[in-house]
Amino acid sequence: MRIVIFGPPGSGKGTYAILLKNRLGIPHISTGDLVREEIRNKTPLGKEIEKYSNAGKLVPDEVITEILKKRLTPDLSKGFILEGYPRSIDQAKQLENITKIDVVINLDVSDRVIVERLSARVQCKNCGSIYNERSLKPRVTGKCDKCGGELFKRADDQPTVILERLKIYKEISAPVIDYYRTRKLLKDIINNDPDVRPEVVTDRIMELI
Ligand code: AMP
Repeated sequence: MRIVIFGPPGSGKGTYAILLKNRLGIPHISTGDLVREEIRNKTPLGKEIEKYSNAGKLVPDEVITEILKKRLTPDLSKGFILEGYPRSIDQAKQLENITKIDVVINLDVSDRVIVERLSARVQCKNCGSIYNERSLKPRVTGKCDKCGGELFKRADDQPTVILERLKIYKEISAPVIDYYRTRKLLKDIINNDPDVRPEVVTDRIMELI
């Protein structure tokens, strides 16, 4: 199954993509992780795109599409969970030229919850697991429960950058929802309640797909 996880920054795309990957046994592709990898490895491309990512701006469509194409290799024929792409109508059209998509999960979350979540988010440098300094604390501060890796705060999770990312989401990314709704590929999940555990939300996603 070829699944797209769509939603604003902080809606839990990464968390649910990892949980779904474990349940379905298909690869998880995150364009945000691919971008951070290029930046961490200081590749020529990484140096070019760092300014966009750190400022919370979108990497140009043609650049991000090339990064994705490199990763969407034939070993993904059994399916995949694509997270963070498409983020514009142009990207949604590009994706149609690259591969077929079976379902798009739209995570619907309010602005207030997004700002609260992102300002407390930390992530493992090693395995990518996501924690929250308030609601989902690691057992040892600064260390990943799963692999012991170091936890870090993303450069784009600062309050002013979060607001910029939300503004861009509304202007450029949100129209993608209607694009997929008219194609009857969209499934909505409302995800505002911090007391509902991610596993329960994942059960709901599994029922929808
Ligand atoms: P994410 O982890 O998905 O929030 O992505 C982190 C950053 O990578 C974004 O703020 C963008 O700068 C860049 N990025 C990731 N995916 C895309 C995309 N599909 N289009 C443009 N920029 C992207």
